[in-house]
Amino acid sequence: MSGIILATINAKWIHPSLALRLLKANLGDLEPRCKILEFALRQPLHEKTGPILAARPRILAFSVSIWNHTATAELLEALAPLWDGHPPAIILGGPEASYLPEDAALFRYADYVIRGEGETTFRKLCNHLLNLLPEMAPGVKFIDAPPVDPSSIAGGYRFYTEEDLSRKLTYVEASRGCPYGCEFCLSSAAKSRLTPAEQVREFPLDQFLGEMETLISRGARSFKFLDRTFNLDIGRAERILEFFLERLKPPMFVHFEMVPSRFPRELRRILTRFPPESLRLEIGIQTLNRETALLIGRPGDPEKELETLDFLRRETNAIVHADLIAGLPGEDMKSFAQGFDRLWKVRPAEIQLGILKCLPGTAINRHIEPFGMRFNPKPPYEVLETAEFPLRNMERIKNFARFWELIVNRGSFADMISHLFPPESPVFAPFMALSDRLLEHFGRNWGIDRRELRAAILEQIG
Ligand code: SF4
Repeated sequence: MSGIILATINAKWIHPSLALRLLKANLGDLEPRCKILEFALRQPLHEKTGPILAARPRILAFSVSIWNHTATAELLEALAPLWDGHPPAIILGGPEASYLPEDAALFRYADYVIRGEGETTFRKLCNHLLNLLPEMAPGVKFIDAPPVDPSSIAGGYRFYTEEDLSRKLTYVEASRGCPYGCEFCLSSAAKSRLTPAEQVREFPLDQFLGEMETLISRGARSFKFLDRTFNLDIGRAERILEFFLERLKPPMFVHFEMVPSRFPRELRRILTRFPPESLRLEIGIQTLNRETALLIGRPGDPEKELETLDFLRRETNAIVHADLIAGLPGEDMKSFAQGFDRLWKVRPAEIQLGILKCLPGTAINRHIEPFGMRFNPKPPYEVLETAEFPLRNMERIKNFARFWELIVNRGSFADMISHLFPPESPVFAPFMALSDRLLEHFGRNWGIDRRELRAAILEQIG
């Protein structure tokens, strides 16, 4: 019988959870009694229930995010009748569990919900449950966890196995939090619970770099930073970039999320030195409509942001993913198309077209009435329509996003793309027409064989 099982359902097998490893690392004396179980979204239910039941835990804790909310609920429901008279205490935490309303269906099978950062609160709760043997009162209990001080917690990197490091993404974290207030984003929702000093907290840099050194020596190859705004403190960013620049050997790479408004000369200079394939940047543009940007708490200078992307394409080897969101308040098809075409002109490697989500706890819901917005109440809470973006147009945009991913972002048709959609010409209208026709042709936008897709594109444009 295990004491504690820390479990989660990852989006894919290659995405291990740093959160579970941090929770285990901070269990103190209880750490040897804790086992991590990770599953992948596509695994059948019995492959998830089997290992959990076999472990016979006294505490079963799940990290819940937007992408595994439904699958976690299904798993908890499937487990409920199988405990054979000895159900564990079930604890839920993670970004999704932190903001759902107390009557959410997910909590039907939970005994405790930790809202916020769990490293210290989870240890205290486990100690309480295992050592004091309390009588479990019926009903779910909610615990507000205070933000942790990164310098006071133990690192979780030692729990990455050799297989994790050599075959999966290695998630790392040099800072926590974001000072910006984009209303659609969970980081901005978290900000409302924090004092200004707590909004961004940094892990001690020398210690962090020492941990990265150990990971590289153990075989880590693909580093993905969880920091929401890596280029906030330019001095720190430079030191971390310099560290990796000295050690990167093909096929190693590092991936950072950066805000487009903070690219001073010193940061640009170091980015130009990264060799091909070694640097991936995720740059959140979200909208190029100034009024919309202001409405959602994201005031920025679209010209400056596009100039940053243009610089990255012309003068660095970085593979840039630029994020754009459809369905934001105040934006219609015409303004979205203009933004998309402007972004296309600076030609990031990928344009990630996301659909607006109304995440529990975020302030975007204040626009629901004034902008006639309707959202799906179930995860991933996508917008169905807005006053300016009626249902039919939103469905076309979702179909556009799917075919854009298949045809452009995945790079499988690179030979055709530059010929079909030259960067100097607008791409939105012709690609929308193509994606409409492809949907009509296949009757779906998933599970399409690549050769059939190529033939259909040629037929449609021929
Ligand atoms: S979208 Fe990015 S910049 Fe805006 S609040 Fe979220 S993490 Fe911060």
